Amino acid sequence: GECPAFSCMVRRLSDAFSSLQEFNGNAAHEFRTPLAMMQAQLELYEEMPHPDMDAETAELLAMLKEQTERLSKLVKTLLEMSEMNTIERADAVELTALIEEVLADLSPMAEKRQISLLQEATGEVLLQGSDILLYRLLFNLVENAIRYNKEGGAVRVSAEERADTVEILVQDTGSGIPEADRETVFQPFFRVDKSRSRAYGGVGLGLTLVRKIVELHGGTIRIAKSDAQGTTFAVTLPVHAA
Ligand code: ADP
Repeated sequence: GECPAFSCMVRRLSDAFSSLQEFNGNAAHEFRTPLAMMQAQLELYEEMPHPDMDAETAELLAMLKEQTERLSKLVKTLLEMSEMNTIERADAVELTALIEEVLADLSPMAEKRQISLLQEATGEVLLQGSDILLYRLLFNLVENAIRYNKEGGAVRVSAEERADTVEILVQDTGSGIPEADRETVFQPFFRVDKSRSRAYGGVGLGLTLVRKIVELHGGTIRIAKSDAQGTTFAVTLPVHAA
C-alpha cells in the first residue's frame, strides 16, 4: 500500500517501541519466579540455620539476601513501568490529602534520619489521573528528598494553583545535584553517586518512573533549583476539569 516515507518511519518506530516495551514486561515477568524461589530458599535457610555455620558462610548468605532483594526491587519497578500505560487515569485526586498521605507514610524514614517533613497549606486542588500513580510520583520525590538530605535537614512540600494547572514543589536541604547531571538524573539507571545510592538499595529508576508518570498525566517536571543548600523539584500538572 501507499506509505509515505515519513509516516512509514514513524510507524516502524512506534512498532519497535511497543515491542520493546512488551519485551521488557515479559522479561521482567520471567525474572520474577526464579528470583522469588531464591529468596524463599534463603529465608527458609535463615529460619533454620546450621548450628555449625561458619562466619564466612553467614556473610555469604547475608550478601545473597541483600542482592536478591535488590534484584527483585528492580524487577518490580521494571514491571510497573511496562504496565503503566494501561493503568486507568480517571480518578479525581485531592492533592492536599495525597501529600498528607505520602508524608505520613514516609515519616518513619524521616524520623530515623531526624529530618522534618513540612507541608505548606494549600487550598483544595483536584487532580485528574491514577491515584496509585500520583501517589507513587510524590512518594518517590519525597523519598529522594529524605534519602539525599543531611541529618537534621528538612523536606518541604508545597503547591501553588495556577489557571488550569498546579505546581507542586518538593524542596530539600541536601547537598544538591551537579549542574551537568540535572537532565541525566531522569535517565534509567543513572545515579550521581553510585556508591551512596547503592547503599540505600537504589537502582536509579525512581526519577525515570516519576517523569513517566508526570508525562502520562500531561504534566512537566524540572529541577527548579539546586545548590549546596538543597534541591527543589517542580512538577506541573493539569487540574481536574470541574
Ligand atoms: P535512586 O534509586 O538512585 O534514588 P533515582 O532515579 O530516584 O534513583 O535518582 C537518580 C539519582 O539522582 C540518585 O541516585 C541521586 O544521585 C540523584 N538524586 C535524586 N534526587 C535527589 C535529591 N533530592 N537530591 C540530590 N540528589 C538526588
